[in-house]
Amino acid sequence: MIIRDKLYIDGQWVAAQGQEKHPVVNPATEEIIAMVPASGEQDVDDAVRAARAAFTEWGNTSVAQRAAWLKKLAEGLQARSEELAATITAELGMPLKFSQRIQSALPIANMEFYAGLSEDFAEERIGNSLVVREPVGVVACITPWNYPLHQIVAKVAPALLAGCTVVLKPSEETPLNAFLLAEVVAEAGLPAGVFNLISGSGKSAGESLAGHAGVDMISFTGSTRAGKRVSELAAATVKRVALELGGKSAALLLDDADLAAVIKATLNSCFINSGQTCNAMTRLIVPEDLYDQVTALAVAGAATFTVGDPAEGKAKLGPLVSARQQQRVREYIAKGVEEGAMLLCGGVELPCGLDKGFYVQPTIFGRVTPEMTIAREEIFGPVLSILCYRNEDEAVDMANDNDYGLAAAVWSGDDQKALTMARRLRAGQVEVNGGPYNLLAPFGGYKQSGNGRELGRYGLEEFLEVKSIQLPK
Ligand code: NAD
Repeated sequence: MIIRDKLYIDGQWVAAQGQEKHPVVNPATEEIIAMVPASGEQDVDDAVRAARAAFTEWGNTSVAQRAAWLKKLAEGLQARSEELAATITAELGMPLKFSQRIQSALPIANMEFYAGLSEDFAEERIGNSLVVREPVGVVACITPWNYPLHQIVAKVAPALLAGCTVVLKPSEETPLNAFLLAEVVAEAGLPAGVFNLISGSGKSAGESLAGHAGVDMISFTGSTRAGKRVSELAAATVKRVALELGGKSAALLLDDADLAAVIKATLNSCFINSGQTCNAMTRLIVPEDLYDQVTALAVAGAATFTVGDPAEGKAKLGPLVSARQQQRVREYIAKGVEEGAMLLCGGVELPCGLDKGFYVQPTIFGRVTPEMTIAREEIFGPVLSILCYRNEDEAVDMANDNDYGLAAAVWSGDDQKALTMARRLRAGQVEVNGGPYNLLAPFGGYKQSGNGRELGRYGLEEFLEVKSIQLPK
């Protein structure tokens, strides 16, 4: 078992002040694989003070110097990419081959992207004013477990490039990859206090950090429930808050679309990472006339998503992250049945041949109606809801009829028509005919999916203040 008893604060590994520890469980074996510190208020305070003390100097280095540091971090992560993938598979449960492709390769590519943005931030003249952009200050980064390192790098890399200093609190479910990142930071020799790592629960370490008066900004990714609480805590000192929250994304299938392509892409989106993806297409909205064809293809497709041990080569889906998450998803499945949706495949039982691990079968519901709980709430498990529409206006209304607005997809034989529909959807990111994920394009939500944007240049803007300097005429 891995025992971590130190936090990374002010450029050093220091013993956590509190004695309490948090277990990290492998969701495939249900065994405790590590213990990490449950940081207390004193640890949080030490980390914020270190970040504050480091801010002035770091904020005054040139963008090119900071970019050069990020390049070192990218190289450090690259050198440990296999270890990162294996660690994330052990703590999260995503099959190793996908962890290698997504969980470690994606954040490394993102770190490299920000390392490549080495030019100074553009300044602008408006009349007699010079408009300049400066770092916000000390940033608290609070991150979830589903794409853990990706979500960390999507905050830490642009924050550091902007000239901010950082206190990171990763999810208590998957903290081990963040400890590896801190090792990379230490090995690179980043100036003391620029990056600090604390660990622990949301209720304790997370709330202390979000409420700390020494923090200027909170960059949060997680559930809408916790995002609301973080915003309340931030309000006391009017911190800037960037929120990346939940989703209930809809894929809209128009009657001239290539059905096989739609089903393949939608199942992948909905089931990958066992459905624990914030922008997963969890609602498939189809013309009434095509319902039978769609459901037949979807059920056949679901059977190809083999569930099993994430450390082995065969499985496409591993377990969910925790017993709590498994229970939550089972309750949603039971609710779907209770409210009258048609269970087409999957269900609450463990997949065949598995008697332990927090697994859930890929599950599809047909005849789902917009008011059902499974059509409205984020399940965060491998559960697809298929809804029917009679005309395209109704389809758009159905897609938009949700508290969330993170992502959507439109499928049509006519790209132009699909684009017109995409413009009508109230979501921060819309795929047209399978347009692939773009790491440089802004990512973020409308409505209760959050505010602010991550990734690319838009992601950097979040960490910059704008100053007007009025010059004499
Ligand atoms: P969560 O909200 O439980 O936890 C996220 C992080 O917030 C963790 O580090 C947790 O410790 C911390 N936290 C929890 N309560 C807190 C509080 N009261 N104060 C301060 N910090 C607190 O979410 P999760 O279960 O880890 O992640 C799943 C959720 O994240 C889903 O809703 C998913 O849609 C969302 N998510 C969104 C995006 C996005 O980019 N929009 C990406 C990934 C995940």
